[in-house]
Amino acid sequence: MSKCWTWLAVLACACLAMAVDETAELESQLPGSEGARRLELLLSLAEQRVTTDPQKSLDYAREAMAIARELADSVTERKALMQAGTACFYLARYEEALRHFTDSLVLARKAADEAAIALSLDRIGVIHGSLSDFARALEFFLEALEIRERIGDKKQIARSLNNIGVIYQRMADLDKSLEYFTRTLQIMEEANDSDGIGAALNNIGNIYDSLGNHNKALDYFERSLKLRQATGNRKGTALLLNNIGRIYSMQGDDRRALDTLFQALKIREEIQDNMGVSESYNNIGKVYLKLGENDEALIYYLKALRLKEQLKDRWNIAYTAREIGNLYLELKQPELALEYARRALQISREIESPRLQMDSHLLLSRIHRVRKDYGPALEHFEQYSVLNQEIYSTERQEKIAEIENRYESQKKEREIELLKKDREIQRLELERQKDIRNSLIVFFVLILGMAALFYNRYRLKIKANRQLAEANRKISEQNDALTDAYERLDRLARTDPLTGVSNRRDIMEYIHAETARVERRGLPFVLILMDIDNFKAVNDCFGHDGGDQILTSLARAMQESIRKQDLLGRWGGEEFLFFLPETRSAGGAVIAEKIRQMVEEFHVDRAGDEAISVTATFGVAEYDGSHALADVIKQADQALYLGKREGKNRVIVYS
Ligand code: GH3
Ligand code: MG
Ligand code: MG
Repeated sequence: MSKCWTWLAVLACACLAMAVDETAELESQLPGSEGARRLELLLSLAEQRVTTDPQKSLDYAREAMAIARELADSVTERKALMQAGTACFYLARYEEALRHFTDSLVLARKAADEAAIALSLDRIGVIHGSLSDFARALEFFLEALEIRERIGDKKQIARSLNNIGVIYQRMADLDKSLEYFTRTLQIMEEANDSDGIGAALNNIGNIYDSLGNHNKALDYFERSLKLRQATGNRKGTALLLNNIGRIYSMQGDDRRALDTLFQALKIREEIQDNMGVSESYNNIGKVYLKLGENDEALIYYLKALRLKEQLKDRWNIAYTAREIGNLYLELKQPELALEYARRALQISREIESPRLQMDSHLLLSRIHRVRKDYGPALEHFEQYSVLNQEIYSTERQEKIAEIENRYESQKKEREIELLKKDREIQRLELERQKDIRNSLIVFFVLILGMAALFYNRYRLKIKANRQLAEANRKISEQNDALTDAYERLDRLARTDPLTGVSNRRDIMEYIHAETARVERRGLPFVLILMDIDNFKAVNDCFGHDGGDQILTSLARAMQESIRKQDLLGRWGGEEFLFFLPETRSAGGAVIAEKIRQMVEEFHVDRAGDEAISVTATFGVAEYDGSHALADVIKQADQALYLGKREGKNRVIVYS
């Protein structure tokens, strides 16, 4: 790091050396040059020499003016005039400077060159300010500012603002001047203009100095000094050293103050900054006065006054004259004191400086008292009091306004803080709301998802149920069909295929079941076994088909002739069995007889042939539970056999 700074310092020195070399190089070219080239050289040299050797700068500028006029080059002539005016300003030759600047303004107006017009106006303002004509200075500065704002050149606007600040400062309007200087500093910093920043820092330091804030003033002065030293601006360096010296004195370090002030004086004498030199004299005198070294103080005040008179710097003439008056009074020389005090009052009235007038009146009052001229002493004291009241009430108001301003700005800062906090709270609240919203969204998405899931499951279930119902229906349909088929099969299994009546198995099962009923309820049933007579002969006569036809038709007829509760079955071949429930032998015989008669009368008609008719024999037996079923069937068979033997076509009841 330290190496880095060393290198920077070496580089800076090299640059400075180059700048000095450049000026010397240009000067060496001057003897052999002529015309436009010489004009160019002279202008460059006048510009480069203005701070270090203003007299030489003025000489160059004057020669340039003459050549430009010869060449009828009005632009360069105007530039030379400006340079000459600036050199005169540095030499504190204000009347001469004013003439040059006014001439350049005329040329600029002729050329309608706005930037040049503004520059001339600006310089004229500076001169008026230096001559303590603040109102006129302000007039020129404001006109220049207006033009520069129209052009929009920031650096130039800053220069105008700075000049206006200086004028307000000298008019003791510190608030206004601080405002203008701060605006200047801002623009200079934006433009990165070291010279401009240095000047603005110095000016702001001066305001803090006037406001009694020495630490802040010192801070600004030191910052400015560093910049001035870095850019090699000797006039500026001296000015800052002078200001810093003043602050040291005010802080009570008078020896250090003197040391610094003499450093400033040395530079100012070297560069012939007369105005600066006179100021240094003044300040050195002041410190000596403070140290009680009145003789030394008087020497420097008198030196200062002589220079101020040369420079026609009236404000400073009045100021220094009053200081000298004060000093003579201390040195018990009231007559000399009176002379200087009167001069101070007269000039401070001319330049309308209430503070200087006030101080002069107080001094005069004291001098008259020492001289025992009590009338004039009282008179001056009264005038002092009036001015004092005016100034201090104004100052008090200004102080109050300043405090109010400070309070206002603090309040604003607090409000901004609160606003920031509010914004933070608002931001957090928004975030919280966002979180809640996001949670709600997630929640609703979940709910929706679950609902969709449930709905889907519900739908699947319904579908499954429907499919199940459908399957059940099909199964039940199939069951029905199966039952049907089974029933059909069962019926087929139980039915005699030729005649359609129950077969032997079916009727036997049925009768078996009925035997249980007989046992339970004690109601007997009757079995009638019937056999068609001489059926072989029927077959022989009418063919097997004819026999079948008789069998079928007769079975249907017999089926129709029996009661609902009775059952008819084919026992085999041309034999049939009747089951008559809740019937006894007698009843059974009656029914058998009825059937026998029906068979006898029955015949099957055949187209073109004789009708077929048959008879049948019947054996009747009763089941009352006392004999086995097989026995009862045998009994019926025996009765039937008996009936066949006895001549057929008859009913025999087993006994
Ligand atoms: P009866 O009983 O009066 O003593 O004389 P029958 O001629 O009826 O004698 P039997 O009982 O010996 O003969 C029965 C005949 O019936 C024998 C057989 O050819 C005939 N038959 C048996 N079943 C059927 C049948 O399903 N269809 C036809 N067409 N004839 C049958
Ligand atoms: Mg038979
Ligand atoms: Mg027979």
